Amino acid sequence: GNSIGVFTSGGDSQGMNAAVRAVVRMGFYLGCKVFFIREGYQGMVDGGENIVEATWSSVSGILQMGGTVIGSARCKEFRERNGRLIAAANLIERGIANLVVIGGDGSLTGANCFRQEWPGMLDELLQTGKITSQQREDHKHLNVVGLVGSIDNDFCGTDMTIGTDTALHRIIEAVDAIATTALRQVRAFVLEVMGRHCGYLALVGALATEADWVFIPEWPPEGDWRATLCNKLAAERGQGQRLNIILVAEGAIDENGKPITAEEVKQLLCDKMKIDTRVTVLGHVQRGGSPSAFDRILGSRMGAEAVLALMDAKPGTPACVISIEGNSTVRVPLMECVERTKEVQASMDKRNFDEAVRLRGKSFQN
Ligand code: ATP
Repeated sequence: GNSIGVFTSGGDSQGMNAAVRAVVRMGFYLGCKVFFIREGYQGMVDGGENIVEATWSSVSGILQMGGTVIGSARCKEFRERNGRLIAAANLIERGIANLVVIGGDGSLTGANCFRQEWPGMLDELLQTGKITSQQREDHKHLNVVGLVGSIDNDFCGTDMTIGTDTALHRIIEAVDAIATTALRQVRAFVLEVMGRHCGYLALVGALATEADWVFIPEWPPEGDWRATLCNKLAAERGQGQRLNIILVAEGAIDENGKPITAEEVKQLLCDKMKIDTRVTVLGHVQRGGSPSAFDRILGSRMGAEAVLALMDAKPGTPACVISIEGNSTVRVPLMECVERTKEVQASMDKRNFDEAVRLRGKSFQN
């Protein structure tokens, strides 16, 4: 019962490798076998070479790499019960009774669902002769621990997600680079940053780059924002400011719910203010490059704690997420995190932004 499967799923983020490494090393330290499940749920369903035993040296030299060396994917089959049945049989075949899932809210929701179905799936696998009654007895419990790997910092229950800090570094590097070229000439730059549902990167990025304005989904500008923006920039220019930086989150909207795009802001500055304005869409640059010190340490701490949580799990211990509260690593119930994250989205959809921000900010414990 001491075998652990570790996988990364959904969009990759910097620091995932640090987490994978820590799971392997802490697992070995505690006498566990650790298996890589390559390509996320896809590898779990496909089995074969996708599920391989890790060695101590197999995680050497990966801590400093971006992305995820064990691969990540989105997987249609795992969304169907039949796919999950095949995945369960693959785990049991290798004696895996513990899972560490590193991914976004979708991946963690899938893991939670998998765990809830586990007993029923065992019955079915036994009836169809895919497993023996001994295997069923040995695998009665599946322990699941989730780590949130996402550059968006959009998950409830943890102060920071793995990858967010590095993405912020990419944003400030880009703005700093742009600012150097812009100083020669009066200019404005509009940067589109990631965050379809969550404005964290844009908001914090704006603070860290001395931006003049930021558009985020949680805070649609009220009234005639075009005039307000132009007046502000005009006042700044009147005081001799030569460079303007405006950040737009992908999911930014106006008070009627209509998207605000970087291109639209650029047009406004060009037409109304006659400012030479350029748009930069940062895109995957934000997911790229090597992880920051913070994300290396965050991934390492969370990975180590995940193994401790798995080894502490008793039959009936609910699946948990390893999160950061203040400066401590804590275990919070996965179900509640997933549900609260859904509630945030529902509040956003209902345009109840205060509620969304309140829910997101609330950290809670078992
Ligand atoms: P990102 O932050 O990049 O969106 P994510 O983990 O939220 O990451 P998703 O594409 O939502 O990414 O989920 C990744 C995979 O997890 C899916 O392709 C699917 O295999 C599995 N998954 C997601 N939701 C569920 C679910 N409700 N039930 C079963 N599996 C799921």
